[in-house]
Amino acid sequence: MTLASVVGQPRAIDALQAALRGGSVHHAYLFAGPEGVGKELAAVGLAQALVCPEKPNEGCGSCEQCLRLAKGAHPDVTWLMPDAERLDRGLAGRSDFSGTPSREIRVEQIRGLLERISLRGLESKRKVALVVDAHMMNQQAQNAFLKTLEEPPSETTLILLASAPDKLLPTIRSRCSKVHFGPLPVELISSRLQKERKLDAQTAQLAAIMAGGSLGRALALDLDALAARKEVISTFEALKPGEVGALLRWADTFGSSREEAEHALSILSVWTRDVAVVKAGGEHLANRDLLELAREVAERTHEAMLHRRHYLMEKAKGIIVERNGAPRLQLERMLIELLEGR
Ligand SMILES: [Zn+2]
Repeated sequence: MTLASVVGQPRAIDALQAALRGGSVHHAYLFAGPEGVGKELAAVGLAQALVCPEKPNEGCGSCEQCLRLAKGAHPDVTWLMPDAERLDRGLAGRSDFSGTPSREIRVEQIRGLLERISLRGLESKRKVALVVDAHMMNQQAQNAFLKTLEEPPSETTLILLASAPDKLLPTIRSRCSKVHFGPLPVELISSRLQKERKLDAQTAQLAAIMAGGSLGRALALDLDALAARKEVISTFEALKPGEVGALLRWADTFGSSREEAEHALSILSVWTRDVAVVKAGGEHLANRDLLELAREVAERTHEAMLHRRHYLMEKAKGIIVERNGAPRLQLERMLIELLEGR
């Protein structure tokens, strides 16, 4: 793994390589873009290019320094992330935390990071700090971090990874060199899924579209859940205004957990897009096998209503994923607003 081997993000990688070649690497970067599109791989690649003794400014990917860095075990490269993320990655166990591991990055963590980077590099001249989910820094943490950006330690490169960069203070954003990572092309994700998950072309295509340009999300997709998409869609389309009992049952079935609700909403987002495609006279659906149903729904649904559907689904997903909203309740609210118009 090196910077050059990051796929699907030519503009971002070109910009970083140009800075490395020209000796104009910034002291702070903000890698902005959706989850699972290569931000972290690029950050590891950039860090390797900065500390690799074999191929300076490029990174060889195979020397001891590069390998340790990729494993998260390089003494001059500090990783920081929310406790909940460390738990998810298996870098910490339940017993390492007294309460529920936080989804936020706390000010104590930032202080610890600053202490570490104020020390001399142990093995390389250059030090790198990598902040995963930087947008999860709480207010205090962001203020502490801002001070560092105002007086950056020498020989240090800070890399912030953020899927929701708007949550960062404008003063943090303006002091970082911003590198944008876009969604990956569907074809790229689809071919990786066919190769790595042995999926057939149609399923891989569908999964790629559902993952919204995120390879990480596509690889993590539960394939059984993908098979259940027909049920999510057909039961959703069968809901009618005034039948509140059915509506509550639907929310109960698909809102049993955060993941489940997020998944159902992703399915419905793609489906709503399919209906809009049919309405506009197109036939290239992600859910190719549901063309008949898409035609039927397109027939009876106004275009403005499809926009509203999409808006309400994204809103519910945002509240569930980013603000930790109760999944069943958010689904209920979405359905009530959608069907009852209130
Ligand atoms: Zn190397």
